[in-house]
Amino acid sequence: MEFRLVADTFQRLEKTSERLELISILASLFSHADASNVHMIVYLLQGRVSAPYTGIEIGLGEKLVEEAISRAFGVDKGEVERLYKELGDLGIVAERLASHKRQMTLFSEPLTLERVYGNFYRIATASGEGATETKVRLLVDLLKDAEPLEARYVVRIPLGRLRLGIGDATILEALALSKLGDRAYREDLERAYNYVSDLGHVARLLFEEGLEGVRNVRPVVGIPIRPALAQRASSLEEILQKTGGECAAEAKYDGFRLQIHKKGSDVWIFSRRLENMTGLFPDITSAVLQQVDAEEAIFEGEAIAYNEETGEFYPFQVTIQRKRKYGVEKAAEEYPLKLFAFDIVFLNGEDLTPRPYSERREILESIIKPGDTVVPSERIVARSVKELRDFFESCVERGLEGIIAKDLKAPYIAGARKWAWIKYKRVMKSQLSDTLDLVIVGYYKGRGKRAQLGIGGILGAVYDPSDDTFKTVAKVGSGFTEEQFVELKNLLDEIAIPHKHPRVVARIDADVWVEPKYVITVLADEITRSPNHTAAWDGERGLALRFPRAVSFVREDKGPEDATTVEELVEMYKQQKHVKVGEGEDSY
Ligand code: ATP
Repeated sequence: MEFRLVADTFQRLEKTSERLELISILASLFSHADASNVHMIVYLLQGRVSAPYTGIEIGLGEKLVEEAISRAFGVDKGEVERLYKELGDLGIVAERLASHKRQMTLFSEPLTLERVYGNFYRIATASGEGATETKVRLLVDLLKDAEPLEARYVVRIPLGRLRLGIGDATILEALALSKLGDRAYREDLERAYNYVSDLGHVARLLFEEGLEGVRNVRPVVGIPIRPALAQRASSLEEILQKTGGECAAEAKYDGFRLQIHKKGSDVWIFSRRLENMTGLFPDITSAVLQQVDAEEAIFEGEAIAYNEETGEFYPFQVTIQRKRKYGVEKAAEEYPLKLFAFDIVFLNGEDLTPRPYSERREILESIIKPGDTVVPSERIVARSVKELRDFFESCVERGLEGIIAKDLKAPYIAGARKWAWIKYKRVMKSQLSDTLDLVIVGYYKGRGKRAQLGIGGILGAVYDPSDDTFKTVAKVGSGFTEEQFVELKNLLDEIAIPHKHPRVVARIDADVWVEPKYVITVLADEITRSPNHTAAWDGERGLALRFPRAVSFVREDKGPEDATTVEELVEMYKQQKHVKVGEGEDSY
């Protein structure tokens, strides 16, 4: 396929933020693709060449890209830098230089999608001595033959600055529309995606085997499955009511969710965001080999740093620091981890996801041999509020976050937040049943003392899967220390953009807009109606947080689509102790 077609499409996508139009433009591009190259389009749209879990990233820094532009167009680096300062976008710099060049040279070989993807793949995987030179050369090779518009995207892709306003959900809908004639088939594609976490793979499968192939997708050892998530309850009564009067209740450990894959003597460990973290957990890897009695298995657990002497659990921050601050080996000694295994989705060739929780749990317990590191999560089966309360209180007393109740009859629902799992946490000094995870979409420069820092607060948004956008819900100015503000500003300046991001829906301005990338956890006193925020907008007002304060720094374990959703926000609004649903002006 000609890359020209891809570049034209990208340009059209850039010009609109109307979702149905985005989908139809993209669907028309897919209609030119076939099973051999559809995955290339899908990856390039996301600025990648492979699924995120593979860890293969193009990631070229500005300096290398400037070097490649200078070599490709025969201008010196000072000139490239000057143009960058003037135009503010290296993509546009390359486009301009390519159009000058075009007037001077007569022929070049037209770029194809395959060649562009191939070069980027080689850039992403080049390693060892001379890798930097190889990467620059591969980019120069593309730029030399690029038409001006193509040059714009050939530069933006490796810099991770496509910003087309396209999220996973939009890609799935466009694939469904293009290949199956109806956006509604997104659900089938999403189900497959939840099992294999690889949009390119799902796209190829759709083109190769059609809907049947997509519907037959099962978990595969070595490829992460998207995790099941929990709903939240505002009372223990509600939990029993949602689970039909009987449920399991497990301790909710505030650690690090790990998905463990085992095949013979190979072990893979994936984070909640499905990154491959095997190298960080040698202790867990060897414990799994010793303690898990299965040839092939995919199971999940919460890893938490644990003090054997005092029997005390360390908080999440300590668990996570282990990977940053200390050498991996030393950390494993100082903060030994326990892995509280809580679910299993695959065993020796069998997909266990359709089986009820009670059976999966039994299977899980049967394959864990006694040992120090891997242990089944603590749990009870409860039939009364009293049993639930006693268990909840004993968990909180020991410094745990609360409980997760599980519907005994429910299957494992990958990638979804359903009532099969219900969390009930201890949240202090708040009307709300939980904290919220907000995506930062912009920041404010701050007044007074904060003016010196250059940042005084952020604009936070929740995720709306129905149209794949981020809708604002609060300005958050407290909860960060000065050092954290400084660090945050540095992080945000790297992803600052001149206008509101196409996937952000806002009625108020930020001083600096940023790409929706980072997630923070906030606690608020309550959720109120507000004409300023767009979350759960009813035509006149949306929902906003009252007295929000950050209770975490940037969450490394969450991406923007993992933020609290609009639906959850509405649910939490209804659960607030003083809001009487169905009365007065409330329309939810
Ligand atoms: P939170 O931000 O409240 O920790 P989350 O958004 O990361 O939650 P939720 O779906 O809200 O995810 O809560 C489930 C999380 O709780 C899981 O992702 C997992 O990391 C953690 N967890 C701790 N103990 C358990 C358990 N026994 N069973 C399932 N999940 C558990």
